[in-house]
Amino acid sequence: MELNIMDLSLGKIEIPIGKKILSKDPVIFAGPCSVEDLATMRAITQELKNVGVDVLRGGAYKPRTSPYDFQGLKDEGLEILKEIKDEFNMMISTEILDVGDLDKALDIVDVIQIGSRNMYNYSLLEEVGRTGKPIILKRGFSATVNEWIHAAEYIYNTGNEKIILCERGIRSFETTTRNTLDLNSVAYLKGKSRLPILVDPSHGTGVRSLVKPMALSAIMAAADGLIIETHTHPEAASSDSIQTISIETLQQIMDKTNEFWRLR
Ligand code: PEP
Ligand code: MN
Repeated sequence: MELNIMDLSLGKIEIPIGKKILSKDPVIFAGPCSVEDLATMRAITQELKNVGVDVLRGGAYKPRTSPYDFQGLKDEGLEILKEIKDEFNMMISTEILDVGDLDKALDIVDVIQIGSRNMYNYSLLEEVGRTGKPIILKRGFSATVNEWIHAAEYIYNTGNEKIILCERGIRSFETTTRNTLDLNSVAYLKGKSRLPILVDPSHGTGVRSLVKPMALSAIMAAADGLIIETHTHPEAASSDSIQTISIETLQQIMDKTNEFWRLR
């Protein structure tokens, strides 16, 4: 049976993000790995706004591999995102790990993120789908493209078409980088699926110096936008600091993205 998402005769799905439309304009999501204290988030958001970032990203609830690592500010992180949203009139994207957190996040979050570890959590996919909000569905780090598309179909079947795929790298035999950023999937899905697709070169590489070249490669592979972990003081980020870039590097990526976008 043909999947709705792969049936091009139904037309490409266009998702508005502020004044932009995913697939027509390059859309940039940027911000720290985890939501930090209010003063730090204010400083970061101001800088991101200055360079023209479309959506602030930041995890309040963090799915960490080790239970002994920082787990995010949780509810307090959500409150900080609310203050930032009101003060800066900025769109917000954050990850929801648990259906129990969904209600309190609804007024705050413009784009719900489902993380790599939850791509197979079908009841969570259906619950977030029912909110009607745009959903970023990150690829499970051991998921095939086919499994990823089926996960997206769970959201689609709730009546919510606003699904944004995000390639974030897969686990391979290679250990020099945190993950292997599979840009094949981006170019492949661009021609075959109805959904817009983002690339996250931060988790895709796990290495700060590789974020810019892989972000730009993603744009040439026809990605519709990028999610990039960015901080005013990357070394001081409370999680994933080694893959977090500065505002200056983000600015360079965004300038080049606009240039490359016209060449595709
Ligand atoms: C994130 O983007 O905050 C994150 C945890 O990424 P992933 O789910 O891709 O590991
Ligand atoms: Mn991270």
